[in-house]
Amino acid sequence: DNYGIKDALKRLGIKDENLGTSTGSHWVDTGGELIKSYSPVDGSEIGTIQITNREAYERVMHEANEGFKVWRMVPAPQRGEVVRQIGEALRERKADLGKLVSYEMGKSYQEGLGEVQEMIDICDFAVGLSRQLYGLSMHSERPGHRMYEQWHPLGVIGVISAFNFPVAVWSWNVMIAWVCGDVCVWKPSEKTTLTALACQNIVAEVFKANELPEGISSVITGNYSVGGFLAEDPRVPLISATGSTRMGRQVGEAVGSRLGKALLELGGNNAIIISEHADLEVAIRGALFGAVGTAGQRCTTTRRLIVQENVYNEVKERLSSAYEKLVIGNPLDEKNHVGPLIDKKAVEAYLSAIERIHAEGGKELVPGGILEGNGFQSGCYVKPCIYEVENHFQIVQEETFAPILYLIKYKTLEEAIAFQNDVPQGLSSAIMSTNLRETEQFLSAIGSDCGIANVNIGTSGAEIGGAFGGEKETGGGRESGSDAWKAYMRRQTTTINYSTQLPLAQGIRFDI
Ligand code: NAD
Repeated sequence: DNYGIKDALKRLGIKDENLGTSTGSHWVDTGGELIKSYSPVDGSEIGTIQITNREAYERVMHEANEGFKVWRMVPAPQRGEVVRQIGEALRERKADLGKLVSYEMGKSYQEGLGEVQEMIDICDFAVGLSRQLYGLSMHSERPGHRMYEQWHPLGVIGVISAFNFPVAVWSWNVMIAWVCGDVCVWKPSEKTTLTALACQNIVAEVFKANELPEGISSVITGNYSVGGFLAEDPRVPLISATGSTRMGRQVGEAVGSRLGKALLELGGNNAIIISEHADLEVAIRGALFGAVGTAGQRCTTTRRLIVQENVYNEVKERLSSAYEKLVIGNPLDEKNHVGPLIDKKAVEAYLSAIERIHAEGGKELVPGGILEGNGFQSGCYVKPCIYEVENHFQIVQEETFAPILYLIKYKTLEEAIAFQNDVPQGLSSAIMSTNLRETEQFLSAIGSDCGIANVNIGTSGAEIGGAFGGEKETGGGRESGSDAWKAYMRRQTTTINYSTQLPLAQGIRFDI
C-alpha cells in the first residue's frame, strides 16, 4: 500500500469500479465502456471509470441548463460564500487529494499538496472577486441619458483539462466561473480521471448542503471524443481547454465553426536567458527546478537555457553536477526529486526526441535513458538529460513533454531575445540578470513575446493572482487572476434615457 493511498482513496469516495458521469451528487450509470486508471508510480491499476455516452451527456446538459436557471439568480456574493465553503472542504481533504494527485499523475507528494493549495488559493481569490465583478460607467453624449456596462453569466462552461495539472487548472476555471454565475461541465484527462471524481465528490457535498440544485458542477469522462461532445455543442457558449497544441487546433476549429468562445491554454517551449550579469546561484537553482520538476511535464517547464558565452562553461559544469545529485524514484517518498512520466507512450516520445536530437547534431552533456529494476517496474521512470543544440533544430522547436533540457550559447542580448522568441509557442520566459538595462529590455516591447516574463526566477511556478496563459501556438487564453474573469461573463452595454426627448446618437436628425 503506497504510503496509505488505499485509505485516502476510500475517504475520497473512489472505488475499484466507478461511474464516470455526474450531474452533481447524482452519478449516472451508463452500463457502458470503461477506462482504466493506472498509476505511473508502480504501474498498478487504481480503478475503472465508466465512459460517458451520448445519452448520459444529454442528461448532464439538461441538469446543467436547469441548474443555471437557479444559480444565475443567486447574488454573486452568495455564490462567493458557497465557493468559500468549497475552499474549506478542500482544506480538510488536502492531504488525501494531494496524495491521489501524486499517485495517479506521478508528481511528487509536495507538488500534489501544492496543487491542492492552489485550488484553495483560487477559492479565496474568487470569494473576494464575487464582490468585485465591476463594470465601467461612461458619460453619454446625449443629455438626460446614462450609460454603463454590466456583466452577466454566460451559461454552461465546458472545461477540458490536461493530465499534468489534473485538479488545479480545473479549479482556476470553475471557482471563477461559479462566482460569475455560470455552471460547469468538466471533461478531465482520461489519464487522471480519478482525481476529477474525487473533486466532484467534494464540491457536490457543498452544493447539496446549501440546498442548491444539481447541474452546477458536472463531470463527464472519456477521451477526445467525449471532449468533442462539448466542443461541438452550441449550448456551451465557452470552452476552456488545456492541453497540447494539437488538441487546441481541433477544439478551436470545432468551437470556431459554431462561433462559440474558446479559451485555449496549450503547449509551451519555455526558455531562461542566463546573462553574464546573472547571480549564478539563483540562475542554476531556477533552471534546475524548472527543467526537472514534475519530470519536465509542466506547460511552463524550462526546455531551453540560452546562456551568455562568458558564463556558458560554468553554467554547463554546475548544472551537470547538480543533475548527478538528482534522486529519481517513487514521488510519494519525499526524499526523491524526480518521479515518473505519465505513461509508456510518454517514455516513447522522450526516447524518440533523444534520437532526433542526435540525428540533428545535438551534443550530449548529461545522458538520458530509462530506469529499470526495483522501484521502477512501471517502466515510466526516465533520467533527466541535457543536450547542447542550436535553436533552429526542428526537435528544439517542438515541445517534448519530458525532462530534456537544451543548452544554447549566445553573444549579445539581442541575439538571446531573438532565440527566446524564435519558437512557435509563447507561454513562459525568464531572464537571469542583475543588470537593469538588460532586464528592462527583456520586459519591453522588443523583449520576450510570451504571456509570462520573469526576472531572476525560473519559468515555472506561476501564482494564481496573475492572469495565466500565453501567445502564438500557446493559444492566447488567460485564466486565473487579474481580470481573467471577464472571459466567463458577457458584457452588456446599457443606455438609459431619463429625459422627455429622444436625441439620437451622432447628432442624427430624423424628424417627420
Ligand atoms: P492532450 O492534448 O493530449 O489532452 C488534453 C485534454 O484534451 C484531454 O482531456 C483530452 O481528452 C482532450 N482532447 C484531446 N483532443 C481533443 C479533441 N479533439 N476534442 C476535445 N477534447 C480533446 O494533452 P495532455 O497530454 O493531457 O497534456 C499535456 C499538454 O498540455 C502539454 O502540451 C502542456 O504544455 C499542455 N498544458 C498547457 C497548459 C497551459 O496552461 N498552457 C497547462 C497544462 C498543460
